[in-house]
Amino acid sequence: MKTTRREFVKTTGAGAIGATLVPALVRAQAPGASGGDVYDVAVVGAGVFGAWTAYLLAKAGRHVALLDAYGPGNARSSSGGQSRVIRMGYGDREIYTRWSMHSLELWRSLFGQVGRPSLFQEVGVLWMARGEDPLTTKTLATLQRLGIVHERLGRSELERRWPQIDFGPNTWAIHEPDSGFLVGFHAVQAVVQIAEATGVEYLQEAVVAPTGQGRLGSVATRSGKTVRAGTFIFACGPWLPKLFPDLLGERIFPTRQEVFYFGPPPGDQSFRSPAMPVWVDFAEEIYGLPDFKGRGFKVAPDRHGPAFDPDTGARVVTPETLATVRNFVARRFPGLKDAPLVSSEVCQYENTSNGDFLIDLHPERDNVWLVGGGSGHGFKHGPAVGEYVTARIVEGGKAETRFSLATKQKVQNRAVY
Ligand SMILES: Cc1cc2nc3c(=O)[nH]c(=O)nc-3n(C[C@H](O)[C@H](O)[C@H](O)COP(=O)(O)OP(=O)(O)OC[C@H]3O[C@@H](n4cnc5c(N)ncnc54)[C@H](O)[C@@H]3O)c2cc1C
Repeated sequence: MKTTRREFVKTTGAGAIGATLVPALVRAQAPGASGGDVYDVAVVGAGVFGAWTAYLLAKAGRHVALLDAYGPGNARSSSGGQSRVIRMGYGDREIYTRWSMHSLELWRSLFGQVGRPSLFQEVGVLWMARGEDPLTTKTLATLQRLGIVHERLGRSELERRWPQIDFGPNTWAIHEPDSGFLVGFHAVQAVVQIAEATGVEYLQEAVVAPTGQGRLGSVATRSGKTVRAGTFIFACGPWLPKLFPDLLGERIFPTRQEVFYFGPPPGDQSFRSPAMPVWVDFAEEIYGLPDFKGRGFKVAPDRHGPAFDPDTGARVVTPETLATVRNFVARRFPGLKDAPLVSSEVCQYENTSNGDFLIDLHPERDNVWLVGGGSGHGFKHGPAVGEYVTARIVEGGKAETRFSLATKQKVQNRAVY
């Protein structure tokens, strides 16, 4: 279905911020900009949520514009990291396990289409646990019930398979051999590539926070354009509170998260795949990935950091967190005790109160969707989020209460990991 094309509107030249980041994806001016289009849907934000949503809406026959201020998978976005874990274990929150399973199929299929299957690395995920750990115990039951390939490994088997890890107080673990990681911002850019090939018009533009009330007819960009559409989707990750300060200023909590990459000793293969899987030390709230393409052994605290501004926040790691992480690495991975820090990233989680995503209509604007709240675990689910939003818009698909705005509180109480 396409709406009548009338006007895309006035424009002068390219929205050029970050154009050098992804030149192949950037268009100076959308086709039809001078002739004028009204899009069926304008998606603001080309992170993993917005990119997948735009692509799947275009596949469903909608005429879609996708806009981003800095570019798909840019270094300030939550989707902008080098790598993102995809695992199936989510305690008894079965919807996320199902979404993760389904998303992995869609990721694989898309990577096949763009000829880049290695954007998913099937290195396995090892989730370490201690004693009766309730979340990990519930995960085990969910994986069993859904028939997901996994192993429950006791301490002696863990030590036999991964002698380079000192498991410390961890007594058992779940190993998901078919899980692994997605190659972060490259994966997002692949989605935008295929979205454009499907008809999505990508515009590198910063959208001004909408004002007024009721149905939204258009949005303005900082460069002076007006983009008209029947439906608007704001998939702006940690920027959502800036775009909707009254509604979301106290309901999305962007937090500063630091990521460290350590260089293994020369010629040492024990910290890269296949010797090393993705690992999670749940009790210590820290996880990591094997050295990939010599970029370093990734270690990242999962504990929420302080509040963070995604536009202007300094992206330099702190000596305090580095010291904490080094201490952990020395204990858990003794072979990396003196490993140099070869790289680092500062990103931000865009947390909801409990970690459930926010996917809902704006309560006062019936053609405006709010899509975000990835809360440190959203990347893997990009395909499922895109499908859910597409179904809601195209077929009036069933709403899942946990994603509603009404369930989002103003006090953080993390429950989804
Ligand atoms: C350090 C770190 C590690 C993580 N690890 C994992 C993991 O291992 N596995 C996992 O599944 N998830 C992980 N996550 C979470 C996951 O990366 C995020 O939940 C997900 O990327 C959020 O995507 P998004 O599209 O909602 O937001 P974003 O990726 O932030 O995208 C929002 C986009 O909107 C654009 N934008 C904002 N405002 C405007 C505007 N006014 N006009 C135009 N464009 C605008 C931005 O430029 C940006 O590109 C991690 C996150 C971090 C920070």
